[in-house]
Amino acid sequence: STVQRFGFKPVMLIVILYFAIFNEAVCDLFQRFGSALVPWGSLQLKQKQYAKDFQPIDPDCQCPTCRRHSRAYLHALFKSDTAALHHITIHNISYQLTLMRSARQSIIEQRFPEFVKAFMKRMFASREQYPSWAVEALRSVNIHVS
Ligand SMILES: [Zn+2]
Repeated sequence: STVQRFGFKPVMLIVILYFAIFNEAVCDLFQRFGSALVPWGSLQLKQKQYAKDFQPIDPDCQCPTCRRHSRAYLHALFKSDTAALHHITIHNISYQLTLMRSARQSIIEQRFPEFVKAFMKRMFASREQYPSWAVEALRSVNIHVS
């Protein structure tokens, strides 16, 4: 039918919107506490453990912050001024853009549900930690993550 033939795209748009909103909410929340987003969760760079950690936030990230600054540098910077937050924001925006690019690519390759599942799995230690509103939103568009 016509609906079936053309139903795919609007549904995927809704999913992307949900996914983008969800991702943005997580970003905002983390940024407020000075967290840097990484594919496996987030780094609280204020914590002592990063004082002598000379890796970039994410070794695979190509953003200016990761190319120039180590976790130790950003950790030290937190003590003096708010510039650390600026660097982390640059990284977090880059992270979001990369993530959205990957999401778009997965849609082109018709594996978006798998992409979302992999994202959730990497981001949360267990399924019990998935935010219920995200699980519900995804379920409404037929992506079952739990
Ligand atoms: Zn980065």
